[in-house]
Amino acid sequence: MNRQPAPVLKDLVLIGGGHSHAIVLRMLGMDLIPGLRVTVVARDVHTPYSGMLPGLIAGHYSFDDAHIDLEPLAGFAGARLFHDEAVGLDLAGRAVLCRNRPPVPYDVLSINVGARPSLAVAGAQAQGVPVKPIGALVARWEQLQARVLAASRPLQVAVVGAGAAGIELTLAMQHALRRLLAEAGRADDTPAFHLFGATARILPTHNRRVAAKFMRVLRARGVQVHAGARVCEVTPGEVRIEGGETCAVDEVIWATEAGAPAWPAAAGLAVDGDGFIAVADTLESTSHPGVFAAGDVAAVVNHPREKAGVFAVRQGRPLHANLRRAVRGEPLAPFRPQRAFLSLITTGDRYAVASRGAWSVEGRWVWKWKDWIDRRFMHRFSRLPDMPAEDAADPELVRLAPPEQVQELAGAGMRCAGCGSKVGATILDRVLSRLSPYQRSDVVAGLDALDDAAIERVPDGMLAVRTVDAFPALVDDPYLFGRITANHCLGDIHAMGAEPRSALAIVTVPVGPEEKTEALLRDLLAGVVEALREAETALVGGHTTEGAELTLGLALSGVADPARVLRKRGMQPGNRLLLTAPVGTGTLFAARMRRRSKGRWIAGAVQSMLQSSRGAAGCLAAHGATACTDVTGFGLLGHLLGMARASDVDARLTLSAIPILEGARETVARGYLSSLHPHNARLGRDAAANDGVAGNPIYPIVFDPQTAGGLLASVPGERAGACLQELRALGYDHAADVGSVEPRVQGDPHVHVDP
Ligand SMILES: Cc1cc2nc3c(=O)[nH]c(=O)nc-3n(C[C@H](O)[C@H](O)[C@H](O)COP(=O)(O)OP(=O)(O)OC[C@H]3O[C@@H](n4cnc5c(N)ncnc54)[C@H](O)[C@@H]3O)c2cc1C
Repeated sequence: MNRQPAPVLKDLVLIGGGHSHAIVLRMLGMDLIPGLRVTVVARDVHTPYSGMLPGLIAGHYSFDDAHIDLEPLAGFAGARLFHDEAVGLDLAGRAVLCRNRPPVPYDVLSINVGARPSLAVAGAQAQGVPVKPIGALVARWEQLQARVLAASRPLQVAVVGAGAAGIELTLAMQHALRRLLAEAGRADDTPAFHLFGATARILPTHNRRVAAKFMRVLRARGVQVHAGARVCEVTPGEVRIEGGETCAVDEVIWATEAGAPAWPAAAGLAVDGDGFIAVADTLESTSHPGVFAAGDVAAVVNHPREKAGVFAVRQGRPLHANLRRAVRGEPLAPFRPQRAFLSLITTGDRYAVASRGAWSVEGRWVWKWKDWIDRRFMHRFSRLPDMPAEDAADPELVRLAPPEQVQELAGAGMRCAGCGSKVGATILDRVLSRLSPYQRSDVVAGLDALDDAAIERVPDGMLAVRTVDAFPALVDDPYLFGRITANHCLGDIHAMGAEPRSALAIVTVPVGPEEKTEALLRDLLAGVVEALREAETALVGGHTTEGAELTLGLALSGVADPARVLRKRGMQPGNRLLLTAPVGTGTLFAARMRRRSKGRWIAGAVQSMLQSSRGAAGCLAAHGATACTDVTGFGLLGHLLGMARASDVDARLTLSAIPILEGARETVARGYLSSLHPHNARLGRDAAANDGVAGNPIYPIVFDPQTAGGLLASVPGERAGACLQELRALGYDHAADVGSVEPRVQGDPHVHVDP
């Protein structure tokens, strides 16, 4: 989401959307740095707010209450959000290595990836459920609730770690399970909880009075506290304590002290004795200038503190200030973390204990106080102010790059048109030399030939099938954008029952310094090449030019057997209509532009757009499909209407049977519609008889334009069930029978939409 029209001069990359980075993003959004491109590489698009986690488990908060959604926050900060996991660093080449995409280059880097409980104990990895990553804990918590309900006896649950996190989780889980079982009329089956702590008393980092209060609560709630009991082994159904004692358990939650991820040290960053990134008072790495770290993953060498979200939050503001200074090459300022801090520790039942230094106090009002603090904190990220877009020719640009470079790029508007706007040949050569497109023997002259055009052999008796499509970037990540666009274009060829063979790429890249343009092009084409490779299609050429925004198009060619080619015409009365993928990308991305979508909705839509229709096309053909199309810009109804007209039949669409992407019902109902939607709706109104469904809040989804949508095919009625089953077995989980084909009754072909 671009609030930042200035040319990209520097790259700030943030790894992890932890507490510190959430604050950095908000502060960057309030005051954008012209010429700075910010990229967030985040494994999870929703960051759990640690303070509300026990309340989420206890049932006091919803998922959205307790998570910071990085999608709208990144949009607010004018940052690109790459949904991926950092797995390493190339410190010499200044790039972040990711699990699923090409490396992300940086000028300045900041790491805020948190920590995980150390699972060094034998069996803990295999048998225990670590409290982090929290997403996995929340999923496992749902399984545990189902397991408790299904069990014929009260289960034994062990929580290993008797610090604040372990105690809060124990009490929160117990509270929620008691309520769940009471509602099911099985109050007596509440699991027995065992809390294991290695130290002689629980809450070793808090004062004795706080520990005593919690001992009292834990006893009153029937939790068996095993203090001074260091768990040394976990086996299926049992934990073993140092000294030999064992305890039978059904579930083990692991909430011990934080452990560091291995990759920062492996990359060569200086770390402390426990593997946490060693940083100076400025939060900059002690070994690598330009690399910063904050939160649990960082160890401030001069001011060691315990790992707590409160420190990660407090570091947000000074980290932001120093990142601003670093990108401008200004001297950094030191920050000294506070020594004592206020902890508000909950007992699961809307009661809390406040602890700071030697002081403590407790009560229901303490919980209310904490609830107020936490909600206020979260509102800072869920209620983002509207900010104006920046000026492309901002005088601040000279703080990021030498004036000559700024002047050259600012004159981009004066750059030549026609072939003068081409991206330099050396950049292109370097990018292409690093790609390894799929090779086909029927390509006589492709990318590596020096000819003016690609040459291909077309087999005798086959039909040549061609298509072209192009659009501006839909997602932040150019690599994903490349994959999605290629998949979208391939959909046309698959829908025809044809075999794609070659592609030409047409790219427009925004003006920028050579190395930025090169990196962008490399990512984009790497995505294209990967999607084409999956479809055994060669990239045989293309054209690249500079322009206002990143745009990608592909011209594809393929071949089809004349006897097998599938077209829009061919639908027969009695056929069923099968749709292979859910709809809703148009409305979801329209909501995203207004920062009204949720991260998980967009992540779900992206996954759907990445799914190739190749397998579906083969399956539909094998089950005797009579006509087929891919659902794209005209929406489901527009494409079905096109098929009905071409086939001279009527069709019936069942609104409730249409598979819809998560979140799209909400965004449609709230009126977030694509700019193409009104055009599609006008076409639909002219031709479709919508039998009383026009008032249904979901009805607009039939006009929603799709990017990389699924296939819509007519299949003989007697084969539709088996076809659907096979589609689902192939991984098209949302494939559905959405309607039927009928004889044309009168006038032009119609699509009737039933509720
Ligand atoms: C149950 C529980 C309750 C707690 N309660 C409190 C409390 O009340 N007060 C308090 O001060 N502390 C509390 N803590 C501790 C607190 O959770 C941590 O100290 C805090 O989350 C650290 O924040 P952070 O910003 O460093 O990282 P995190 O909050 O852990 O965020 C790190 C983010 O980075 C992402 N990430 C991780 N690895 C990668 C990667 N390789 N690539 C890309 N992204 C990555 C993750 O998706 C995650 O969203 C609690 C902990 C638990 C488990």
